[in-house]
Amino acid sequence: MEKTAIITGGTRGIGQAIAIELARNGYHIVATYHSNADTARETTAAIEAIGGTVETVAFDVADPDQAGPVIKDIIGRAATIDALVNNAGITADDLFLTMKPGKWDTVIDVALKGFYNVTKPVIKKMMRQKSGTVVTISSVAGVIGNRGQVNYSAAKAGLIGATKALAAEVGRLGIRVNAVAPGLIDTEMIRDVPVDALKQMIPMARIGRPEEVARVVRFLCSEDAAYVTGQVIGVNGGMC
Ligand code: NDP
Repeated sequence: MEKTAIITGGTRGIGQAIAIELARNGYHIVATYHSNADTARETTAAIEAIGGTVETVAFDVADPDQAGPVIKDIIGRAATIDALVNNAGITADDLFLTMKPGKWDTVIDVALKGFYNVTKPVIKKMMRQKSGTVVTISSVAGVIGNRGQVNYSAAKAGLIGATKALAAEVGRLGIRVNAVAPGLIDTEMIRDVPVDALKQMIPMARIGRPEEVARVVRFLCSEDAAYVTGQVIGVNGGMC
């Protein structure tokens, strides 16, 4: 039977690499995005080029009125949802003392309301199936904190707490819930980051590639990780 994976923010950067990696491993891909239709088309082309199947759908994960109907439709059409990757995320950096409420709310909402809005209906289906895996993309900032990113660090630490608590609730049903905490990864998100200066903080002295995160997500979704749940796996070149 066909396996289905939902990847939020699955149309560019790390999410796109995860969508391609899971498609290569036999999943039908549902890649969601916010508004960038061009990269959604590129993702579809890339997955079809390797013989995979994919659908893309746009909605704001932070908005329950948008997320609810879309996720309900996906769940209704799929025989099973085998993997959910909560990857959509944003930054809005500032020092805490000058951070406006909007920058706080938007980063927290995309991460944590997004987790709630998407994971809750999916986990309900996984509980009926008595199978499935959830992988949420946190960040090294959520583990060690990062100056200028109090909002983002809080959001990403919150996702780690949510991951561990949900893993404890659904483990007995055979559902596994894990997080991946990437370090600096080469995507649009870090285009304004002074990468050369930051490389000195990375034991491997380079930034990571989206595919290097995607392979760890693929492992966590697979039977090779059958006894792995409630964990946070760093993919960070030794940054900790
Ligand atoms: P990108 O900015 O390259 O891509 C973000 C993706 O998320 C896009 O597909 C975007 O859609 C989607 N998205 C953003 N906001 C929303 C929203 N409100 N609703 C639905 N979809 C949304 O990010 P990365 O690939 O770099 O990051 C992916 C994840 O990895 C994020 O959670 C990020 O925090 C995390 N991460 C990234 C690191 C890095 O160094 N790059 C390091 C550690 C963690 P659209 O294209 O339509 O805008």
